[in-house]
Amino acid sequence: MKQNMREAMLYEKLPDSRVRCHVCQWQCAIAPDKLGVCKVRQNREGKLYTLNYAAVSSAAVDPIEKKPLFHFFPGSQVFSLGGWGCNFHCQDCQNWQIACVDGLPSGSQTILPEAAIEATRSHHCAGIAWTYNEPAMWFEYTLDSARLARQNKLYTVYVTNGFLTAEALDLIGPFLDAWRVDIKGFSDDIYRKLAKVSKWRGILDVAKRAKEKWGMHVEVVTNIIPTMNDDEEQLKGIADWIRNELGELTPWHVTRFHPHHLMSHLPPTPTSTLERAMDIGHKAGLRFVYAGNIPGHPGENTACYSCGNLIIRRQGYQTELLGLKDSHCKFCGADLNIRTSIIERCD
Ligand code: SF4
Repeated sequence: MKQNMREAMLYEKLPDSRVRCHVCQWQCAIAPDKLGVCKVRQNREGKLYTLNYAAVSSAAVDPIEKKPLFHFFPGSQVFSLGGWGCNFHCQDCQNWQIACVDGLPSGSQTILPEAAIEATRSHHCAGIAWTYNEPAMWFEYTLDSARLARQNKLYTVYVTNGFLTAEALDLIGPFLDAWRVDIKGFSDDIYRKLAKVSKWRGILDVAKRAKEKWGMHVEVVTNIIPTMNDDEEQLKGIADWIRNELGELTPWHVTRFHPHHLMSHLPPTPTSTLERAMDIGHKAGLRFVYAGNIPGHPGENTACYSCGNLIIRRQGYQTELLGLKDSHCKFCGADLNIRTSIIERCD
């Protein structure tokens, strides 16, 4: 639809009316009339257009724990928006109906940034998240909305596969508070098999940059898929990297896979595998490793690594704050890396 079509922000013109997109690490070179890998950016007469500005596939009020973010405004509600398209083609995609598109599907609703912020406020949410599909797919829209959110003192969250360019990150960095990033494995082979991406290591660089350059709160998720990424080498690789590059206080969520999409032939992840992954994380020196998608498991709770007291009890999406004082343990004062206020940054 015309109202959803805007000239893209990050691209360069190439010879023969081709263009190169700089939003994500594919950096697609796109011939006239063709689409990028994501199928939502198109070269029209030598200019790159985003086809899906403000085109919403799904909108909901969610607990922030559903993202999952456990150390970021715990217990708050977040206005969650999903768009269309994806730059990955994951075999286990939970949202393939909105991710695997070719151009903008009909029946999409349009929610302009002002209306999104208004909805966030009217639903009494503390912030806004771009989630369900890859937020970079409607980069320009999230940037405009994040700017407005900042003016309205609302927090902002990217739930992302992390494959943005540093250039895109640096544009939105001043207005983004949380970077909830997937790290699917720790080898070329796994990324190729799971997501059909071969050069994946830029994801690590950009996550580090989000934290170090832009002061974002970072949490990492690994969905553990039996026989794919459940071996010691993958899990230890991820845990060691988080510990060494993002720090020991960075939360790591190891979540249960449910058979889905092109991986419906595999079994759900056994609880024992998630517990082994938690153990690997703890042995690597991570202070906060969480088990996900197994409601009622004690691995959902936050305990103080220093005095052992329970800080946050979680049961599904019920969150009870028991021992938090600002970002610290109220019993012993240990730093728990839990963000409860927006940090002002320069743009
Ligand atoms: S966003 Fe990524 S996949 Fe889409 S056109 Fe740009 S570089 Fe290609």
